[in-house]
Amino acid sequence: MVEAVAPRVGEQPSYDERNLALARATVNGLAAIGVWPHAVAQATPIRHIHVTRAGEFGSVQMDAARQGVDALGWTLPARELGAALLRRLDECTRLRRLAPARLEALEPLPTGWRARIRTAEGTVEVDTPLLVGADGTASFVRERVGISAEHYDYQQTLFVCTVTPERDHVHRAYERFADNGPVALLPLAGRRCGLVLTVPREEADAVAALDDDGFIALAQERFGWRLGRLSRPGRRHPYAIQRVAARELVAPRAVLVGNAAQTVHPIGAQGFNLGLRDALTLAELIAGAADPGAEALLATYAARRAADRDGTMAMSHGLVRLACLPQPLLGPLRSIAMLACDRVPPLQRLLARRGMGFRGEPPRAVLERLP
Ligand SMILES: Cc1cc2nc3c(=O)[nH]c(=O)nc-3n(C[C@H](O)[C@H](O)[C@H](O)COP(=O)(O)OP(=O)(O)OC[C@H]3O[C@@H](n4cnc5c(N)ncnc54)[C@H](O)[C@@H]3O)c2cc1C
Repeated sequence: MVEAVAPRVGEQPSYDERNLALARATVNGLAAIGVWPHAVAQATPIRHIHVTRAGEFGSVQMDAARQGVDALGWTLPARELGAALLRRLDECTRLRRLAPARLEALEPLPTGWRARIRTAEGTVEVDTPLLVGADGTASFVRERVGISAEHYDYQQTLFVCTVTPERDHVHRAYERFADNGPVALLPLAGRRCGLVLTVPREEADAVAALDDDGFIALAQERFGWRLGRLSRPGRRHPYAIQRVAARELVAPRAVLVGNAAQTVHPIGAQGFNLGLRDALTLAELIAGAADPGAEALLATYAARRAADRDGTMAMSHGLVRLACLPQPLLGPLRSIAMLACDRVPPLQRLLARRGMGFRGEPPRAVLERLP
């Protein structure tokens, strides 16, 4: 395993940080690979999800109890997830980890790839029968193995910070769409919430320059007063949002997982969830295989991931595009769609299952018997 950034497990979590919404299937997967016990104490269950569109009637409400489960998902500060993953990696006895170390070059071999890696001690070469590109949106592996990618710039900037609402979030996650982009509030430990506020790119500098009162006034205007007055905004982190989709998932003796394979709009909270399902599916196929880089195995991986990947990407992209389009004619249609999703039980069930991360042919590690 090669990672450019040095492990940071000892750092104290701060008030300000990105929070991940982990679907129920993801938590099952993290439990199966021994990560969740290291993270659970910092996680907050999501028991309800509430989706609305500013200026339109109708809402979609999802409720864990109605689906017969204790939680639809959990929120976890990204830094806590990173720390839990590192603790679990420390327990692995057959893994060679190079960090900080940067993959600098790749050379194809008849039976795999030769990787040139720069470490603090110098350059090392490693031969592998299967190269796994888990190196994020601007994947070096993707480019070097010759897989092209489609790019779409949402022209939006997303601000993430922690806020404390006047009323208890009672484990409810909110998503609210509007002409100028979506806003979400995720329940966190105590009374805190993780705020995700999207603004059109041309307004990003002005929003970044707002003082705390100005920023809270904007958040309040965009989110509304469902949780009363918002206060104590943490430090804001801006992210430029883009969608990057690899045109193929595999190349000879190489495979992509996570953001290297697909980077989606964060508002649907799907990126990590999807990436973990990539990794667990690959692990399932490799376990016991004589040749982990065999062409047939990689073809099976791509086929197994297709429905989940295509469906989740289409849903994330469609949601942001459709729900934020200002066309007045779309308003009533959106309201009807929301009412249908809220009131038609089979549709609710389908939506809830997909929201919980059960879609396509999931890896065995995430599965559970649902009521
Ligand atoms: C604001 C925001 C909120 C989000 N919220 C959610 C959410 O609620 N739920 C959810 O599921 N997802 C969410 N996501 C998406 C999620 O964060 C990503 O999908 C996920 O982190 C991707 O993980 P990854 O390991 O594939 O890529 P990355 O996290 O980008 O990791 C790639 C790693 O590769 C390393 N690397 C890159 N190049 C090299 C090289 N040449 N040599 C060595 N190492 C290299 C990097 O150092 C990095 O550590 C959010 C994203 C954002 C921006």
